[in-house]
Amino acid sequence: MLEHLNEEVTEFRSHLARWVDERLIPQAEELDRSGYFSHELFRELGELGYYGVMYPEEIGGSGLKHPYLCFTILCEELARGSMGFAAGVCMHGSTATHTIHQWGNAALKEKYLVPALRGEKIGAFAITEPNAGSDAASLRTKATPVDGGYVLNGTKMFTSNGTVADFITVCASTDLSKGLKGVDLFLVDTQSKGFSVGRKLDKFAIRSSDTAELVFEDVFVPDDHRLGDSVGGGFLNAYKSLTVDRIFTAALAVGNAQAAYDAAVKYSRERTQFGQNIGKFQAIQFRLVDMLTKLEQSRLYTYHAASLADRGLSITSEAAIAKIVAGESCNALCHEALSIFGGYGLMNEYPAQRFLRDSYFPMIGGGTGDIMRLIVARQIGF
Ligand SMILES: Cc1cc2nc3c(=O)[nH]c(=O)nc-3n(C[C@H](O)[C@H](O)[C@H](O)COP(=O)(O)OP(=O)(O)OC[C@H]3O[C@@H](n4cnc5c(N)ncnc54)[C@H](O)[C@@H]3O)c2cc1C
Repeated sequence: MLEHLNEEVTEFRSHLARWVDERLIPQAEELDRSGYFSHELFRELGELGYYGVMYPEEIGGSGLKHPYLCFTILCEELARGSMGFAAGVCMHGSTATHTIHQWGNAALKEKYLVPALRGEKIGAFAITEPNAGSDAASLRTKATPVDGGYVLNGTKMFTSNGTVADFITVCASTDLSKGLKGVDLFLVDTQSKGFSVGRKLDKFAIRSSDTAELVFEDVFVPDDHRLGDSVGGGFLNAYKSLTVDRIFTAALAVGNAQAAYDAAVKYSRERTQFGQNIGKFQAIQFRLVDMLTKLEQSRLYTYHAASLADRGLSITSEAAIAKIVAGESCNALCHEALSIFGGYGLMNEYPAQRFLRDSYFPMIGGGTGDIMRLIVARQIGF
């Protein structure tokens, strides 16, 4: 693995893995059952400085040499404990804060980014709408220019951290007739008049992440809360941020796959049938080896994409491929893991069913497998 070449990354993982083992794993089942996004654990990670992994020291970040690889490992390790919790952290620490860091002014960074990196504020990012998912460019949320700013009207769907966020980067159009070129990013404070949570969504996967429908009804956003230099550049900026985020979604899949693999190995050593551990049956061993093969391929490719990002190289295809490889491998691996648990795999008191349920998220969040294939096909030149 790439991390063996690099002391910074190895040390980063070992500290984090201890926190995951001691703090997150013991709570993972209960968080899944209750569907609660843990503010307590979120704040703890902030106090430990993990939200600053991708950012420079001047704004309270960690100033790491391999920020993308380390954030990838953060998402992976947290997902090894709970993909639901990890998905909320991943959205906060990547796209929600990344858009302010890249395109926000100094005052916005001071008010939102700095406390967000300490875990004192929670961020979200909203592009998807009830009728604009894969076809995000068909969004209908409007930002009408008014004196001193904009007035936002519209509905956003599937927003991670939606009910708990203090601020949300919202994609909206200042001019629907301009299509993509009319789209901008706006930083909306959730205390703003006219903002409300339509509903918290109940779901069968990543239950301990918070997912919501959000309503914007005449929400005033001041001029200086529009992110980016030029009006109309928002869609391209969102696209850049979402491209990077695909690596982190792939990392969530790797972490969940690791957890499912570990659980299956452990169970194979414990469960006895026909007078011996089921792990002694070659059929089980082969299944475990196939799972490990999928896991290692996914991890290698995901780290490869993160390392390219750390070197400032293009990752359009690589991030999409990482998400396809890791997402689909994780889902297949979790099916195998569940089968090793036999009937106990269907019981809620064993974690195999949670790993399988959660494994659907990385194949959809941040763009479906079809859309990842479309992106790569375009890079090939089709
Ligand atoms: C738990 C969860 C959390 C999420 N968090 C966020 C968030 O924080 N912020 C946010 O903005 N969004 C978020 N999303 C939204 C997510 O990005 C979308 O669900 C995803 O992009 C797919 O959009 P859709 O659900 O509308 O599906 P649709 O776009 O309606 O797709 C339906 C089916 O059609 C296929 N399809 C669509 N277009 C094409 C095409 N051109 N070619 C081939 N097949 C196609 C798709 O692959 C899929 O199989 C989240 C989603 C989930 C489930």
